[in-house]
Amino acid sequence: MATPLTADRLVAALRAEGCTVHEVPGWRSNNRNHKGKWGPVHGVMIHHTVTGPGVDVVGLIFRGHSTLPGPLATGCITKDGVVHLTGNGRANHAGGGDGDVLQAVIGESYKTRPAAPTEHDGSAGAVDGNARFYGWECENKGDGKDPWPRVQYDAMVRATAAICRSHGWNARSGIGHLEWSDWKVDPRGIDMADFRRDVDELLAHPAGWSPGATYTVARGDTLWSIAASKLGNGNRWREIATQNGLKNPDDITPGQKLTLPAK
Ligand SMILES: [Zn+2]
Repeated sequence: MATPLTADRLVAALRAEGCTVHEVPGWRSNNRNHKGKWGPVHGVMIHHTVTGPGVDVVGLIFRGHSTLPGPLATGCITKDGVVHLTGNGRANHAGGGDGDVLQAVIGESYKTRPAAPTEHDGSAGAVDGNARFYGWECENKGDGKDPWPRVQYDAMVRATAAICRSHGWNARSGIGHLEWSDWKVDPRGIDMADFRRDVDELLAHPAGWSPGATYTVARGDTLWSIAASKLGNGNRWREIATQNGLKNPDDITPGQKLTLPAK
């Protein structure tokens, strides 16, 4: 149980987590709070937008459309990895869903996935998700073929971690729409168990941390040449030596795996 973050706290949390944030003009007063409760909040829900190139997807999530008024989410995460804030409060994104899933999210009690939902918007036992979940609408056609660029996926993980960290939640408080409603398939192409593992990895480190890349040593490499090509500065070879516990910097062999510091 948690009180929703203020707009300022949400922006600060997203920036601290390393997100690129764009505040859509008017987002701070854009919500559906006049239609129902907002909070207490229990989690974050991930969606795909079902939009392709050429659509003003951020405007769509801000305003909604003829049959579903906006905001349609807390924010829209576009393919370039920008988090566009579109709604501050209750938004039309989750709809009705499964109360058992809600309890599993509140308790953060499930293993890799909550039990499959058996409710949906309008079903007899459905509970209101719009009051209880922040929502990230993520730009994707949702056809199972449209790729999720690395920069966008990274922003989705960070934006979810930012909210979880602010509330003291773990990654089990982040679910996909398909885990909430048996009518839904989004976010198609994202395995939510993998997604939560990536959120938890961020939460195990200070805000803004990035996992270092792994590099496999090739014949002829030196730490200096690796630092020059992968980090843009040969003098950073010492960081690689320290991070990998190398006592003798010449002591690397082809096939050896090194973790690299952030670029
Ligand atoms: Zn959805």
